[in-house]
Amino acid sequence: MNAMIDATHHPELTSWVASANAPGTDFPIQNLPFGRFRLAHDADWRIGVAIGDFVLDVHGAGLVQTQDMNRFMGLGQTARIAVRRALSEGLAVGSSQQTSWAKHLYSQKEVTMGLPCDIRDYTDFYIGIHHATAVGKLFRPDNPLLPNYKWVPIGYHGRASTIQVSGHNFKRPMGQTKAADSEVPTLTPTQRLDFELELGVVIGTPNAQGEPIALDQAQAHVFGVTLFNDWSARDVQAWEYQPLGPFLSKNFASTVSPWMVTLEALAPFRQAFVRDASDPQPLGYLQSLENTQSGAIDIDLEVSLQTEHMRQAGIAPEVISRSNFSQAAYWTIAQLVTHHTVGGCSLSAGDLLGTGTLSGPTPDSAGSLLELSEGGKRAITLKNGEQRTFLRDGDQITLRGVCERPGFRRIGFGECTATVLKA
Ligand code: MN
Repeated sequence: MNAMIDATHHPELTSWVASANAPGTDFPIQNLPFGRFRLAHDADWRIGVAIGDFVLDVHGAGLVQTQDMNRFMGLGQTARIAVRRALSEGLAVGSSQQTSWAKHLYSQKEVTMGLPCDIRDYTDFYIGIHHATAVGKLFRPDNPLLPNYKWVPIGYHGRASTIQVSGHNFKRPMGQTKAADSEVPTLTPTQRLDFELELGVVIGTPNAQGEPIALDQAQAHVFGVTLFNDWSARDVQAWEYQPLGPFLSKNFASTVSPWMVTLEALAPFRQAFVRDASDPQPLGYLQSLENTQSGAIDIDLEVSLQTEHMRQAGIAPEVISRSNFSQAAYWTIAQLVTHHTVGGCSLSAGDLLGTGTLSGPTPDSAGSLLELSEGGKRAITLKNGEQRTFLRDGDQITLRGVCERPGFRRIGFGECTATVLKA
């Protein structure tokens, strides 16, 4: 069942943590996203919840029995809702918990954030229809979308071992590429390094192998949503992707934001799932009244770039794309979970489902440089005059996401950032 709007979303609710009441914060009391943090002297991760500029140790505050995030996630939606309600009451202005909980509150500046959970398995979907169309056009101008696209949520099984939390930089990967005018490939650092603007859907409640998750149960299996950058080496991808799909072009690094925004926090930002009347309706197992009425989520997304030169000159990162999840996505989160399991695949607490690149319909809403530069043919020009087709060493990409709706408090996803290091 979709999460309901309740007292935790009330727009006038304020916190005794003053920074949570600042208009621009990503983490007001209405958000309460989960992540893992540690202090300088800690060896192990603790479960934290972001509130304003602080993080609350929720085990220390007595709200959970464990410091094992995956274990907590596996307890399911009912347990998570109970903790959310207790957090909302305890962090609210006037709460009797203030004195005891204040001892378990740490400035986000003094903690280290880890991966939000142990990421068990990773699947990447391809549900951004404008991305699929734009990329398809580069290869097949007359027939950009393959015939299965509007029937099957397309995806592939990715690599979890190289997913790092925001702030971890990575080396430009080596890979096998073949120039069009060359007979043989060579092993070189990628010359077409790209980002992909995605969301990550993190599974909480597992299902048993052979037991598919029905569409109206699917959201109860989801813990929350993160920002996700699926870095890609386009020249490696072009040479290797047939016949089995992406491999080394995608497995060298992915970056996830440290905070999982729960589906409960996203409840006010639900939208109808709309299919063009001229498009096929989904097969029965991917259709329900609830999915049609409120399956989509309105999340504004943006990508910014700061080059090495900009950093040295003290120039702030420049926004190079603005997009929106529900405008970009051809399928809902519930449809991804249901389709993933329809053949009997089991999902575990901590599995990450990437959405695929969430490009909007217009050129300035493209979620990758492959699209922004039209396949590398037309460089984008930054305000300081620098140009980019693909990423250079020292380039830093930052993803952000926010949800806004009149009558509700704005909530944000924090940031997902990393810098390309030389090969
Ligand atoms: Mn991807």
